[in-house]
Amino acid sequence: MTAKVAFLGLGVMGFPMSGHLAHKTDSVVTVYNRTAAKASTWQERYKGQVVNTPADAAAQADFVFICVGNDHDLEQVLTGPDGVLQAVRPGTIIIDHTTVSADISRRMAAIFKQQNVAFLDAPVSGGQAGAEKGALSVMVGGDSVAFESAAPLMRKAYGKEVRLIGPSGAGQTAKMINQICIAATVQGLAEALAFGQKAGVNMDEVLQVISKGAAQSWQMENRASTMLQDKFDFGFALDWMIKDLGIALDEAQRHGAQLPGTETILSYYQELTAQGDGRLDTSALIKRLR
Ligand code: NAP
Repeated sequence: MTAKVAFLGLGVMGFPMSGHLAHKTDSVVTVYNRTAAKASTWQERYKGQVVNTPADAAAQADFVFICVGNDHDLEQVLTGPDGVLQAVRPGTIIIDHTTVSADISRRMAAIFKQQNVAFLDAPVSGGQAGAEKGALSVMVGGDSVAFESAAPLMRKAYGKEVRLIGPSGAGQTAKMINQICIAATVQGLAEALAFGQKAGVNMDEVLQVISKGAAQSWQMENRASTMLQDKFDFGFALDWMIKDLGIALDEAQRHGAQLPGTETILSYYQELTAQGDGRLDTSALIKRLR
């Protein structure tokens, strides 16, 4: 049976992800974006309907996908005046791809459960390029029956790895683990590259060798050359990373976990954002070392 799919939030990630749903699955797609112009651009490129509120998008949907900014934005599209809660039908499954706190995911799951609506937290990793190529890792928390219904659509559209981690909030916890790993890797790479340049060695040659050894990483593969050229005007905005590391530190405190490196790197990102660099890619950490 053809699924009716709603997608809320056509940003850097949501635009191509919803596009893949329209292109690669036989779903009927309805999109909503707060800024209407983006939805019009989407409609020029993909097949689907555009509506003016999250409630209108959710009204007929079997699946409601979301990719907005933060906890506050998620709350607005779900429980705000024209939010999903106003119109969603029992049996609908909500899949939230926003990176938010585990806390709000559990809270939303509890609210929607009362309407017999399942809420899956399903943050993604793979960045803008992963969204555009349709090759994202999706880490999911929530009900396993709802997961089994929603997973085939995600796999077909943009999920190269789609995995249920545990109950509500577990997907977001997995994303926190992901971001903790990334922060330390980027800082390590920034230090290594800035050191190498100051030491005057041929960094292209160095990278050819070490990227085949134990120092190899996604960041090295995808960011080292742009970092060496001081190019940061693309990618994953460091303001998003500040949000994500803040979420991870709050959660760590709740569990009595120590994140000393993450705390320090967060302060470096805050320094960069204070000087107006908040929209630069996270690899801009190297700027502090110049
Ligand atoms: P983005 O380009 O800034 O897009 C955010 C989207 O959310 C826009 O469509 C925006 O609408 C909408 N939005 C924000 N606040 C809203 C509100 N209060 N009500 C309704 N809509 C609202 O962000 P993005 O890069 O796609 O990231 C989206 C999420 O994915 C974030 O949680 C981010 O941390 C996560 N993520 C991003 C990446 C990445 O590489 N970019 C990678 C992994 C995860 P407008 O168009 O009206 O502003």
